[in-house]
This record gives sequence, C-alpha cells and structure tokens, in this order.
Amino acid sequence: MNWEPVIGLEIHVQLKTRTKMFCRCANSFGGGPNTQTCPVCLAFPGALPVANKRAVEECIKLGLALECEIADRAVFHRKNYFYPDLPKAYQISQYDEPLCSNGKLAVPTADGEIVIGITRAHLEEDAAKNVHVAASGRLHGATATLVDFNRGGTPLVEIVTEPDLHDADTAKRFLQLLRQTVVELDLSDAELEKGSMRFDVNVSVRPAGSNELRTRTELKNMNSFNFAAKGIEREIARQIRIYEEGGTVEQETLHFDPTQEDSPPSRSKEEAQDYRYFPDPDLVPVHPPAELVEKLQREIGELPGARIKRIADTLSFYDADVLVTGGLDKLWSDVVAAGADAKEAANVLSNQFVAAGIAPDAVNAGELAKLVAARSEIPRAAFDEALAKVGDAGFTAAPYLAQKVVADTGELDPIIDKIIEANPGQAEQFRSGKDGLLGFFVGQVMKETGGKADPRVVNERVRAKLGA
Ligand code: ADP
Ligand code: MG
Ligand code: ZN
Repeated sequence: MNWEPVIGLEIHVQLKTRTKMFCRCANSFGGGPNTQTCPVCLAFPGALPVANKRAVEECIKLGLALECEIADRAVFHRKNYFYPDLPKAYQISQYDEPLCSNGKLAVPTADGEIVIGITRAHLEEDAAKNVHVAASGRLHGATATLVDFNRGGTPLVEIVTEPDLHDADTAKRFLQLLRQTVVELDLSDAELEKGSMRFDVNVSVRPAGSNELRTRTELKNMNSFNFAAKGIEREIARQIRIYEEGGTVEQETLHFDPTQEDSPPSRSKEEAQDYRYFPDPDLVPVHPPAELVEKLQREIGELPGARIKRIADTLSFYDADVLVTGGLDKLWSDVVAAGADAKEAANVLSNQFVAAGIAPDAVNAGELAKLVAARSEIPRAAFDEALAKVGDAGFTAAPYLAQKVVADTGELDPIIDKIIEANPGQAEQFRSGKDGLLGFFVGQVMKETGGKADPRVVNERVRAKLGA
C-alpha cells in the first residue's frame, strides 16, 4: 500500500510592537524578570485590557500578505485554562470571528509552485514564561518553577494552515518562506532561537488517492526548521508502521527530542481540554475600516515567494531561491540593471559574496557591476581582493580593472619557454601522456607572472609547445 502524508501547521509569530497586546508595558526581550508588568498583564482584579491598535494593523497586514479575507468584524474570545503562566486563567485569543481567514501562500519549488491554504491568522496574547529550576536546568527533576511575566500579554499572530502539505521538505520550505515574509514586512524578528517564531506540526497519513483525513498527532512548539522536518518524517514513518501492523493511530501530542530515536507522548496543558471559549466582555469587537485595509495593502511590496518565481524565469529556480532567501536579490537586480550579465552576477553573489560575508546594503551596485563584467579580464587575485572590499565606503572598481590579465602570447611565450627549459623531466612526462602535469606548468606560469596570466591562454600555449 502507498501512503500519503497529510500535514497542517500552526505557527506563532511574536509581533515587535512597542507595547504589549492589551496593556502599555514594553514588549521587549531580555529585561530582568517581572520588570515589564502591570495590573493588566498580571491580571489584577478590575484591570481592563485595551487592544493594541498597531498589533491589529500588523495582523491585518500579514493576513493581506497571505491573501486572506479581512473580517468586517473580529472578536476577542477568552480561552479558559488553568496554568501558572496564565494569571487570568484564560488567554485572550480569537475563535470563530478571527481577523483574517481563507488565505493562501504559494511555495515556489523547482517543479512549479505548491499552494498552501491558510485557514486563518488571528491575534492573541502570549503566556508568561515558566522557568523550571533544577541543577540540570531541565523540567525533569526540577525542584521549583519560577514565573517571569515579562512575556505574558505580548502580541502573537497565530497562523493556521489547511492540511495541504504532503511532505516534510515542502513543510520546511513553507515555514522558511513564511518567516522571510514576516521579517520583510517588518512585523517580527521571527527568531527561532529566541522563540519569537515557533510552530506546531500536525501529521497524519492516508492511503494514497483517498481524501479522508485520518487521526493526526501533533508535535508542539518546535523552534527549528530542520527539527520540524525531522519530526514530521519520523511521525510519518511511525504512523505507516502502525497501520501496516493493523493498529490504529491515537490522537495525541508528542514530544520531539532531536537527540532521541522516537517522539514519546507528552502530557501537556492542552490535552483533552474544553476551553469554554466565550467572547471577552471587556473588549469591543474590531471593525477594520476599509481605508485602513487598503492603506496596509498598498504598503506591501513584492513578497519573497513572488520574487523567487519572477527571478526563476531569468535564472534557474535554484539560483533564484539562493538569491531571494539570502537577501541578495535586490542587489542582484541592481547589478544587472547596471549592466552585468544576469547569470554571472548571480554566480558571484551566491558564491563568493556569501562566502565573504558582505552586507548587501553596503554595496555600490554600479561598481560591483563593473567588476562582474570584467571578471574574466582581470587576474583572479585582483578580482577576489576587490570583492572582499566591495562593501567598504567609497569603494571603486577602477584600480582593480586596471590590472589586466596577461593574454598576449608575445609576452607569455618567452616565460613558458623558460619554464619548459627549466623542467625537462616534467616536459618529457607530459609529452608521453601524463596530462595531469598541465596544471604544474600553468601553476609555474602563474607564479612567474604574479597571478596575472590568463589561464586559458597559458593552457593553450603550453599544450601547443609541448606538442600534446
Ligand atoms: P486544533 O484547533 O484542535 O489544533 P484544528 O482543526 O484547528 O485543530 O487543526 C489544527 C491544524 O491541524 C491545522 O493546521 C490543520 O490543517 C491540521 N490538521 C487537521 N486535521 C488534520 C489531519 N487529519 N492530518 C493532518 N493535519 C491536520
Ligand atoms: Mg492545535
Ligand atoms: Zn502590562
């Protein structure tokens, strides 16, 4: 039997608004424990929340980027559960009237794009942070739990996809593209290590060709693209094994640990919960004005997925992907507009440029274009040196362009003759078929000319002279 994996993702993105979702505490990372708190986010009786306008706008903007419908009326609900990181004993979230719904995100791939439905994108507040204290630093064996409320009440957008993904690699690409989209829209720094972007993956498998949705399991709070992909693959294999042995998959939340072979069930606070959602009577429904939605729409430029698709028409998908995901495509277009060859410019940017670790914003595209265009005419060493300095203030290509490669046979021939004369043994071996020695001769000529000889001409002349 062939099995088809079915995957849906839930992604939390921390907005980088100046203040929290429902109070005026600073929304910033790293302050001393419990320094960024107030009666609202500590849930003192009688304290009233007020929705952060900026957060509402940013959620709408992300919804628009994901081609969602923006609700005329959106409602905040209370999601009730009891946990020490949740002082109100409910989280303010959205339920059946979210801000954004019915969108999509197209993931470009080498074989065309894969369109993933976006069920919804809604606003909610984050919980506080539990810090389990034990010698090992892990929950297991902890002797106490401390709560830092700084994160409590900070704004999150939750994005939920349709179960439209069918392999781990596309899921990973989707997450990377979504991350780049929110970063470019300047909504979040979406740093996985800091937890400002985290995701849950839902996985099931079904007989290939069927449309049923079988029981799924969920891996929660992953913070690495590779771990998500690995967790998905592991879970697909496990479920297939269960079905093939005649068993049934149980709906449960699993704990992914990259250092372990399997993902054991985790007892989590969400397990088999009835959240008793109801509209928060302290908050008025949100009615986004049409002019606001139009304004936010106009602020959205060409998004990374669309840029990959456009550039892949000129270059290969691979090149387009490397340029866009590396944040180099703007510089690439500028360099091409300034006259460099598209493919040559892409090669330079995605290889040497990345290796040299140069910030693309610092680069004068016109000067880089001159260098790229002259690449085969200047000595390799000069090219590399110029590239290393191309991000320096006031960089000009001119001094490097002046260092022409020596391609003139009148100049190269005497040098080549001298080297052949000085190495009769190698010359003999080369003549009798040891072709690998060509590199030796070219190397000697390069040394003699201080790296300035045109390697193509030297190759040709050495072969001619040695009668090979
Ligand atoms: P909940 O609110 O309980 O987490 P949802 O129905 O909102 O559940 O779905 C959560 C995520 O799980 C969504 O991304 C959805 O696409 C995905 N999902 C739902 N059913 C399945 C399934 N059978 N297999 C894989 N993913 C699924
Ligand atoms: Mg869920
Ligand atoms: Zn507060």
